[in-house]
Amino acid sequence: MANNVFKHIPSVSELIELAPLKNLVDRVSHNVVVNEVRSFLDGLRQEIRARAEDFSVPTAPELAERIAVWISRQERPRLTPVINATGIILHTGLGRAPLGTATVDALAAVAGNYVTLEVDEDTGQRGDRMRAVDKLLCELTGATGALVVNNNAAATMLVLSTLAKGKEVIVSRGELIEIGGSYRLPEVMEASGAILREVGTTNKTRISDYERAVGDQTAAILRCHTSNFRVVGFTEHPSIRELVDLAALKRLPFIDDVGSGAMLDLAAVGISDEPLVPASVKQGADLVLFSGDKLLGGPQCGIIVGNKPHIERLARNPLMRALRVDKLTLAALAATLEIYRHPDQAREQVPVLRFLSTSLENLENRARRLAPQMATAATVAAAEPVPSHSQLGGGAVPAQSIPTWCLQLTPEGLSADELARRLRLGKPPVFGRIQQDKLWLDLRTVFPSQDLQLVEAVLATAPKRIEVS
Ligand SMILES: *Cc1c(COP(=O)(O)O)cnc(C)c1O
Repeated sequence: MANNVFKHIPSVSELIELAPLKNLVDRVSHNVVVNEVRSFLDGLRQEIRARAEDFSVPTAPELAERIAVWISRQERPRLTPVINATGIILHTGLGRAPLGTATVDALAAVAGNYVTLEVDEDTGQRGDRMRAVDKLLCELTGATGALVVNNNAAATMLVLSTLAKGKEVIVSRGELIEIGGSYRLPEVMEASGAILREVGTTNKTRISDYERAVGDQTAAILRCHTSNFRVVGFTEHPSIRELVDLAALKRLPFIDDVGSGAMLDLAAVGISDEPLVPASVKQGADLVLFSGDKLLGGPQCGIIVGNKPHIERLARNPLMRALRVDKLTLAALAATLEIYRHPDQAREQVPVLRFLSTSLENLENRARRLAPQMATAATVAAAEPVPSHSQLGGGAVPAQSIPTWCLQLTPEGLSADELARRLRLGKPPVFGRIQQDKLWLDLRTVFPSQDLQLVEAVLATAPKRIEVS
């Protein structure tokens, strides 16, 4: 029966003679268009096999139009806003933290104007680029100095290159992390010119291991938060106090890479393992490093807070010129930090924190309301509201899962992968997750204002049927 349907598929040569594709051939190239048409038709045949007699092949002009749209989209990938229904709050592939309204407004105000980036209004003289954020960072963390660079990898690089080039930095074997594939501590360290001095074992490192490793070549002690994994069972590592005391005794700087940059205690929303920046400063770390776009919920950047003399040394490193951030980042960071001066507002206005604190009841209600609407889509056999788990993501512990409510879509006449693909190609694109051959849309990472768009996106995955006699 499917054979009959296959016969309705126009040939490649027939299709590329039709206007939308012919125009593309002129604009792009014959080979590119022919290859893309072939691959589109291969996909269509697969879909026909999956759906058998239930499938109607679009007419040649319709197909040509659809293929042309598809090719143009691939030709010019764009940075497009999407609906994140993956439930991964800090999704690196989707740009980590979305910014709140006040932050976006601050960005917009600065973007189209000249700004006081490096001038002092009072004297008219050259001012310090960090002045928009350093006081706020000191106020919020208790540090005496602060500096912002491109990301936390850059912060690590700058700190090690300034304090430990050609010298040894002591790190526990249990903390030699890799995050997101491209960040590997030993490699960043090597690139900075510092020499890695590993101590202890994967699961147990004692303060005496650090003590024994200190010698004339030692330049610093580094602690690195094991953001994305946990060693459980027989484990041991010294407290920050012990490390701070040892560093002070040996007159070495103690550097604490805390990773996600949590400013507020998030235990109430189920995040209990993330070190707090102010706590690390208070306990005596000389330099504390963290990302701006993880739990802090701001723009991508790497923040270094700590002792003023150390910060001043960092600022003088010529690398700083290569790693510095622009006015947009500074404006967005300043606006985000401003919100943190009132912690209750931060929980409301910083989207990452708001997603984390959305109540289960809210998510369940929304899931129950949206499910029947989604179930009417021709591509959906069933839409069920189901409890599940969201993740923090962005290099945070996968084990720290956060309860949530999802819409579980059972596809009709197509695979879950194909349904997910159509959603990703929609306007706006929607990203969900596939589990047990179903498509799950997690509401924890969906703004309530996007609920309607989410339903429309699901409805739009059903192609318009064209009757074939
Ligand atoms: C995420 C992370 C990094 C890398 O930070 P980026 O801002 O992505 O460069 C470094 N260290 C730790 C502990 C992290 O969690």
